[in-house]
Amino acid sequence: MTILFASDLDQTLIYSRRTMGTGVSEEELVEVERIEGKPQSYMTEKSQSALWNLDSSICFLPVTTRTQAQYERVTGIFERDGRPRFAIVSNGAVILENGLPIREWSDNIRQQCVSRNTIIHELLPEIERHFTEEWVLDVREADDWFVYMIVDRERFPEEKLDFYTQTFREIGWSLSLQGRKLYFMPESITKAGAMEYVKNRINAEYVIAAGDSLLDLGLLEKADLGLLAAHGEAVRSKVPLSGHIRITGKKGIKAGEEILEKVSSVSLQHR
Ligand SMILES: [Mg+2]
Repeated sequence: MTILFASDLDQTLIYSRRTMGTGVSEEELVEVERIEGKPQSYMTEKSQSALWNLDSSICFLPVTTRTQAQYERVTGIFERDGRPRFAIVSNGAVILENGLPIREWSDNIRQQCVSRNTIIHELLPEIERHFTEEWVLDVREADDWFVYMIVDRERFPEEKLDFYTQTFREIGWSLSLQGRKLYFMPESITKAGAMEYVKNRINAEYVIAAGDSLLDLGLLEKADLGLLAAHGEAVRSKVPLSGHIRITGKKGIKAGEEILEKVSSVSLQHR
């Protein structure tokens, strides 16, 4: 039986210093990403070992909102040259097969975005209209697919988030607030859709999905077993969850460890 383990990366399997939480010692950490020579993301050694030694019946599928270039910096989730056959980047707009984007997939997503008017140059004037406040530090484009705003969380008005979410949903964009980043994602770009494509390609019979944010919820809903990190945006937002989605008992980098322990034990049960 082939099991697909489709997992978000940031704040699910890998953590920055700022997001790893307490209750982890320096000796437990391994570095998994560097930016300009400086360590950026970590796992615990236990997590890394569990991920590297998953049963051969399990196909690990990274599913991230990172762009391809940002994803490729995360070298520590694979043992040497052991990159998996597939990876989902740019939140599902791009599927990599053996390191290369599947052209037809992205062309199809582009067409959907164009036909629904959810393209960046339609969005930017709306952002300018609604966001003039001093807590907007920067507005960045991710490979021409979506936009994220860097916000000053101290001054960000959390009470207005529902209003923003509603306003942008009406024009076809989903919002997700993760740390200092507020994402604006076209509704056609989903992790769940891209995961289904890979699931069919590899004929997986069972899917375990893991995540922490609102952008992961659709992915978890489509899985047979969903593992949701307790510290994340999705739990905080209190949206109703289906019965097959479980919230971790632990928070921070230790939730990552708990997720991988669960994946290992489920794979043994399905042997
Ligand atoms: Mg995440």
